[in-house]
Amino acid sequence: MNDANRNIGQRLIHRWHWLLEGDAESPEQCMNRSFLFCAALGCFAGGLLNYLGGLTDMFYIVLVAIIGSALLAIWAYLRRGHYMRHSTMVGACLVIIGLIPLNWIYNQGLDGPSLLLFMLVAGYAFGVLLVPPWQRLLIAALFLVVPYGLIWSHYRWPDWIDPYPSPAAHAMDAAMTYTICIVLLLVMVSGFFRRFESEQRLINDYAERLREAGLRDSLTGLFNHGSFYALVDGYCRQENTTQPVRGALILYDLDYFKNVNDSYGHVYGDTTLKFFARVLREIVDVRGGTAGRCGGEEFAVFLPEAGPSEVEEVDTLLRAACEAQPLEHGPVRFSGGVAFQPARTIESWMERADNALYAAKCRGRNATVYRTRAE
Ligand code: GH3
Ligand code: MG
Ligand code: MG
Repeated sequence: MNDANRNIGQRLIHRWHWLLEGDAESPEQCMNRSFLFCAALGCFAGGLLNYLGGLTDMFYIVLVAIIGSALLAIWAYLRRGHYMRHSTMVGACLVIIGLIPLNWIYNQGLDGPSLLLFMLVAGYAFGVLLVPPWQRLLIAALFLVVPYGLIWSHYRWPDWIDPYPSPAAHAMDAAMTYTICIVLLLVMVSGFFRRFESEQRLINDYAERLREAGLRDSLTGLFNHGSFYALVDGYCRQENTTQPVRGALILYDLDYFKNVNDSYGHVYGDTTLKFFARVLREIVDVRGGTAGRCGGEEFAVFLPEAGPSEVEEVDTLLRAACEAQPLEHGPVRFSGGVAFQPARTIESWMERADNALYAAKCRGRNATVYRTRAE
């Protein structure tokens, strides 16, 4: 099929969905409207063919046309954006206690195609029904009781059933009912499929958001303690299998942060943490590094392949950015500890960076200490 034909095909399918469903917001609405429209079409097609073939009484044809019009009226009402709480229920009842029993009586009862219609409509109605449990129960009861009643009545009073005028009429009716059933079946299955797809998309979306939220610190948006550890640990293990890794681990701790909290309040303290995290991330991200919040006012940076000059650059930029944008209490000041040439585990690498940080604190803070010695 060439592109032009495929486009025409897609446009036709699109138009067909638009005709059936309008601007339905949910898959349930789509299925509900499709159900009503297809059932109405089935009524009209059945009535017309019965009329043209002279198969049944005029009475049956008129009744089928009335039921079809009622279904079409509900469909049109819903398609104009109205909400009708019991539309599915009304539609299903019209089909179960009106349309199919009529079909039964006028189309040879047990020997005709009505049971097939019952099965199909039962499946569809249950797929569409998003109604209170008592209504589901009622529909289920109708689907059980009505066909059993009809089967029994056929056995008890066979004269009630109009016979087909000819074998040809019988065959035509079977073909017609099969066509209606197969169209409804396709509508049903495609409706379910689309519903499944849209719900699957929703689930994947939520799962991704949950996964992402689980990795991030909720205050600063940086990687949290666990995910930062896991990330660097993965890097250590992967690199250790071939050759020693090159990289730097930096720990930063804000200086005298408790005083900031005590003097300006916890909310202000949070703002300070967010500010520092944002600046840190901006500087680290563009250098292919990863920044995390280890807890409280402690942050960690992992710079793969980085040596002393790269770390110095990050450190200088960070200090300059904090000095250039003083907050209410003044510029954010912090101490840093750096460890290069990682150990085989993240824990011992962290330990060395932590020792360096401790040394920075001891030397008077607002500076970064480097540990270049390998393990
Ligand atoms: P030092 O220079 O030695 O690091 O002193 P410090 O005051 O920064 O360190 P200390 O460990 O004494 O205090 C850390 C403070 O960080 C105490 C705690 O209230 C505060 N803190 C920890 N987590 C949060 C947070 O999420 N928000 C705010 N606002 N404060 C926090
Ligand atoms: Mg601390
Ligand atoms: Mg501190």
